[in-house]
Amino acid sequence: MSSSSSSSLSHTGRQTTEIPTRCWCGANLTTFGAQTKENLFRRFYRCEIWLKRKIEHHLFKWVDEAVVDEINMVDAKHSQLKEDVDSFKLCTTRSLEKQAKQIEQTLHQIKMLMDAKTKSCGTKDNSALTSEDTLTSPRMSSSANSLTKIAVAAIALGTMAWIYARISN
Ligand SMILES: [Zn+2]
Repeated sequence: MSSSSSSSLSHTGRQTTEIPTRCWCGANLTTFGAQTKENLFRRFYRCEIWLKRKIEHHLFKWVDEAVVDEINMVDAKHSQLKEDVDSFKLCTTRSLEKQAKQIEQTLHQIKMLMDAKTKSCGTKDNSALTSEDTLTSPRMSSSANSLTKIAVAAIALGTMAWIYARISN
């Protein structure tokens, strides 16, 4: 499966930047030991077809260089991944904070509306919300109360679904 003489390794052709798995010709790669004085027993990748047709240009790569390249590539990928995760975290946090504020505002508005409904007589500073009068029937305040609770639950559920959809994208 291994060891063969390698005469002219000057032709490297297309460079791969990681541990190669296949030659350009599609054949599987094997490692061979170099027989030259400068690189005696140094391992390199070559396909079996190259053994029979050495004049053709097949993939050549030193095993030690391939390992170093692979480590560098994994390192680069790792830092890129970390950057991506960090920016995703920041984005998600900002978006969640924005959503939380909106929910708070909505809840505050609903609470004010509820107060305006239950008090019915003494409307001091809730006059801004009188345009919402058609939302609930004024005759029973207890059912208006539960209606508001349902509305709050619905809004919270909708927001959670929205956040989930954003995160899982
Ligand atoms: Zn080949």
